[in-house]
Amino acid sequence: MAVRKLIAGNWKMNGLKAGLAEIAAVRDAVESGSTAHVDVLLCPPATLLAAACETAATGLAIGGQDCHTAQSGAFTGDISAAMVADSGASHVLVGHSERRTLHGEDDATVRAKAQAAWNAGLVAVVCIGETQAERDAGTTLQVLERQLRESLADEATAANCTVAYEPVWAIGTGLTPTVDDVADAHRFMREKLVERFGESGADFRILYGGSVKPDNAAELLSVANVDGALVGGASLKSADFIAICKAVR
Ligand code: PEP
Repeated sequence: MAVRKLIAGNWKMNGLKAGLAEIAAVRDAVESGSTAHVDVLLCPPATLLAAACETAATGLAIGGQDCHTAQSGAFTGDISAAMVADSGASHVLVGHSERRTLHGEDDATVRAKAQAAWNAGLVAVVCIGETQAERDAGTTLQVLERQLRESLADEATAANCTVAYEPVWAIGTGLTPTVDDVADAHRFMREKLVERFGESGADFRILYGGSVKPDNAAELLSVANVDGALVGGASLKSADFIAICKAVR
């Protein structure tokens, strides 16, 4: 059975209150039925989460961009999964390459964050992907195997966990892998998920992320085992993001 696709937007550290108008425009597109063939998720910065959830109403899902491993405590500036859930959000990104690189998060931390998300009732969008150096060394599939094994806890299910494959070198660069490379990576991840989780491994969503734009979305989203996209820059403008949602066939 084909997995229903998800188009997720990651606003990163962008967006002030005025940006809620972009969320309202995406909500309107969702409510009009023009994106009815996909699920749609936006992840604004934490400062906008509660207002975004109010704006989004029911059809558009809202997610956080990160959560702490702990439920609460002396972690100045951090946000717990319970806080993300309390704002009304349903999802949270964990292990984005910018968190792994700029905040030193390793697979064990990412796994603990996903578990914290599940404890708070959130769906964890677990991001993995090879760096340029790892790609050049020909180790892409080994990196993906390790990150899948170590970033996903045994309690991961197709319902509580979405995998986002984001080649680090493709994020924010305008570069994308070839369609064949995307197909190989996604087939490999699917095989690993089925090996580990049995038949239900076929139901996990595996998103592709990295320079997805309105003009390349249809091609990337038509690749087998690509169950949607995680979109950075092109999610900031509702018109581009909606065009990507509509590119799903
Ligand atoms: C991202 O930040 O997850 C991302 C994929 O960014 P971009 O689409 O801008 O490459």
